[in-house]
Amino acid sequence: MVLSKTASQSDVSVHSTFASRYVRTSLPRFKMAENSIPKEAAYQIINDELMLDGNPRLNLASFVTTWMEPECDKLIMAAINKNYVDMDEYPVTTELQNRCVNMIAHLFNAPLGDGEAAVGVGTVGSSEAIMLAGLAFKRKWQNKMKELGKPHDKPNIVTGANVQVCWEKFARYFEVELKEVKLRDGYYVMDPEKAVEMVDENTICVAAILGSTLNGEFEDVKRLNELLQEKNKRTGWNTPIHVDAASGGFIAPFLYPELEWDFRLPLVKSINVSGHKYGLVYAGIGWVIWRSKEDLPEELIFHINYLGADQPTFTLNFSKGSSQVIAQYYQLIRLGYEGYKNVMENCRENAIVLKEGLEKTGKFTIISKDIGVPLVAFSLKDSSRHNEFEVSEILRRFGWIVPAYTMPPDAQHITVLRVVIREDFSRTLAERLVIDIEKVLHELNSLPARVAAKLVANDQSLENVAVVKKTAREVQLEITAAWKKLVADRKKTNGVC
Ligand SMILES: *Cc1c(COP(=O)(O)O)cnc(C)c1O
Repeated sequence: MVLSKTASQSDVSVHSTFASRYVRTSLPRFKMAENSIPKEAAYQIINDELMLDGNPRLNLASFVTTWMEPECDKLIMAAINKNYVDMDEYPVTTELQNRCVNMIAHLFNAPLGDGEAAVGVGTVGSSEAIMLAGLAFKRKWQNKMKELGKPHDKPNIVTGANVQVCWEKFARYFEVELKEVKLRDGYYVMDPEKAVEMVDENTICVAAILGSTLNGEFEDVKRLNELLQEKNKRTGWNTPIHVDAASGGFIAPFLYPELEWDFRLPLVKSINVSGHKYGLVYAGIGWVIWRSKEDLPEELIFHINYLGADQPTFTLNFSKGSSQVIAQYYQLIRLGYEGYKNVMENCRENAIVLKEGLEKTGKFTIISKDIGVPLVAFSLKDSSRHNEFEVSEILRRFGWIVPAYTMPPDAQHITVLRVVIREDFSRTLAERLVIDIEKVLHELNSLPARVAAKLVANDQSLENVAVVKKTAREVQLEITAAWKKLVADRKKTNGVC
């Protein structure tokens, strides 16, 4: 008779991970542990904790790509150990980035001759791209002012109050004053007339947005270009334009090829786009393209010797992964113009299905535009009992992540829910979402007005002291403020990127 012997050590290679001691000890959060743990246990524990993150595919808050073809996933994994900066060792990867720059520059109608290389660079995202474009404008402006013998220590940049946070970062990190054109009720993008009024001799550029983060609307770059050309003629200042096409740069060329927003307009000197938004690549890639060599001051460029040839570089970071560059090249050649156009048309169609479904409920005002980034931004018509933050909160229970946020000045009293339609958000999901939003509305209807009830109670206690009458707008502002505080207390970011 053979007697089998049981292994007694707590070894996951013998026991199942869940039978080991590793799943019952708490993991280090501050100091690194003294001892190692088996790889199976490390994998299982981390994997399981990550289950509590939301499902990226249902994250309707983000523009950033959450799905790519398995063939591209394979290319990405194969390049995961390649440092992009080692251009000598990985010359083909460098070549692929240069090809992407050329293709995107052509898409944006850069004035290039046949076979002429475009001026641009791959970045980690639009934020880095915007830092680089902003630096180029700042340096060009400083050089000009120095030549003229004028002070060059108070540069400013003109944008709408709807700019993405990276512009505020640029302004603070690189010491440029941010002059924001305020929004107003019913108009949530930069007014070109007001922007041009704000331009002065110290303005390094006006930044227009193609696809406002808040409601997807395209700013009127053509009008801005006209007005600024007139002002430049009058003043001799030559103020240029940058277009932040983070989300719209891969939409407009396919859906609205006639729309003039890019290098067709003479004052547009640089454009950024997020490869990881509608460029259809996973997070970690953006692009900045300059109109011509003259628009990127030579002193900002570093020259790397790349197989005996000169490879100019202009980035903030040194090492980074190569996978995203390769993935971008995959998408550009795999999809071609036809493929991108089909994807963008599908997104637009599904945005319309969602928009019409929401309109049918009769409960929402649509804040997004038909021409723009395929997203649906909407507000409750009546938020006296329940507001958009409650809709967002209850939708989470159905698995949907739909952010609610307030507009920037002077439209802070408007709260918006936003659903970004990405490639992987199919019609079935759009229809489901409408059904679930209807359920949420029904549920809210049966609930007491939470915050509003509290505010009314406060009002009544106040009434004993003095009669306080509030306008509907004041009540709305208070409700919004209370919810903002509640949400801010729970997490510091509002989930809108
Ligand atoms: C997303 C976004 C950015 C920031 O882009 P990242 O690629 O995430 O760094 C900047 N501007 C606009 C308009 C955006 O939508």
